[in-house]
Amino acid sequence: MNSAARFSFLVGLRCIQCSAEHPVEYLLECPRCGGLLDPQYDIDALRKVGVRDPLHHGLWAYHRVLPIISEDAVVSLGEGGSPLLPAPESARRLGVRALYLKYEGTLPTGTVKDRTSATAVSAARQFGYRAISVVSTGNAAVSIATYARRAGLRSAIFCYERGDPLKMHHMSLMATNLFTYRGEYDHMIEHFDRVMDQKVVFDGGARRNPFKHEGKKTLAYEVVEQLGGRAPDLFVCQCSGCEIFTATYRGFREMKEMGRIPAIPRMVACQSAAANPIVRAFREGGPLKPMTTGPTVAKGLATGKPGKKGEWVLHILRQEGGLAIDVTDEEVLEAQRWLVEHEGLWSGPTGASAFAALRKGLSTGELDPESTIVCLVTETGLTSPYPPPKTHPVEATEEGIRNALSTLG
Ligand SMILES: *Cc1c(COP(=O)(O)O)cnc(C)c1O
Ligand SMILES: [Zn+2]
Repeated sequence: MNSAARFSFLVGLRCIQCSAEHPVEYLLECPRCGGLLDPQYDIDALRKVGVRDPLHHGLWAYHRVLPIISEDAVVSLGEGGSPLLPAPESARRLGVRALYLKYEGTLPTGTVKDRTSATAVSAARQFGYRAISVVSTGNAAVSIATYARRAGLRSAIFCYERGDPLKMHHMSLMATNLFTYRGEYDHMIEHFDRVMDQKVVFDGGARRNPFKHEGKKTLAYEVVEQLGGRAPDLFVCQCSGCEIFTATYRGFREMKEMGRIPAIPRMVACQSAAANPIVRAFREGGPLKPMTTGPTVAKGLATGKPGKKGEWVLHILRQEGGLAIDVTDEEVLEAQRWLVEHEGLWSGPTGASAFAALRKGLSTGELDPESTIVCLVTETGLTSPYPPPKTHPVEATEEGIRNALSTLG
């Protein structure tokens, strides 16, 4: 076969723990040691053919480095291809050389999760599954349920009962089977993993499935392309289930292996101060310890037991000289307001948290302002709770309008 016609250049799955190589099949962990699996691609062939296919748009332009073997399995709602917005006003105020915001609010369900739902649901189809399941605090539930609808699969969605009302409304429309549970994400997830091991339904969770997290890798490819073929110096992202962090790291690493970029950017992982196991371990220099999460406005970051993926993140941070920063609710809400006031971007708290971490890292001097920085803004604000609007009543007359305009200054 002409190699440019190959849809995916996936060659196998390698265990990150024992390095065992496994053929392409639906595995959630290494059959030998239980380690996480890292999809491997034919880098030499990719070096020749290139990664991007101009005949496809958005995320699927990168199908050669995604784990879907046949185009027939692809499920899409037009995800990916989000804007990389220059933010000169914020850059000026923060005193940094160049700042870009990768804004994921434009994706089909309004969050970064659509990248992984696209590859997860496509992979579910690829392996012949008729149902997919996920435990989620909101965004992943909405997104997996939506892509499952699109594919004609059933979805078993487990959402905790105090989810954001708009997100719960959205998921109740999209899910074929929606279940709510009491307690936190962490209470549910280990039980869920054990049930997923039986492979009755496809695992749409963030913890292990190597076919799922690949979708978020396209963030790295898009950013490099949008910067004209260059990697940023700093890449700031949220890190909760750790898919974004590990997937984008792998994307940058692949590009380095292909000789497309000289170095992997310095990776900055943002966590909520109420759910910061990676930040703590990084600061203390010790092992990752599971923790009980506190309440946080950044609901998408409420993971206290990131498991093996958390250990992988810690390893990458230490090996590559990255940085882990935690942010308080107050800092998150301030970042959310900042993005509205100075950039015209309305993000939910979880989505704005990486920007809060960026501000903090710059203010403590841990991040170099003489950098080209890419910071993720991972969701729209339209599905998050917000206070009642502030308004000023006017009289419905010419005079009323004139008086109103006179307040513009
Ligand atoms: C899930 C989520 C994150 C965290 O991503 P992980 O890959 O789980 O670390 C960040 N932002 C938003 C909006 C999310 O929904
Ligand atoms: Zn192994």
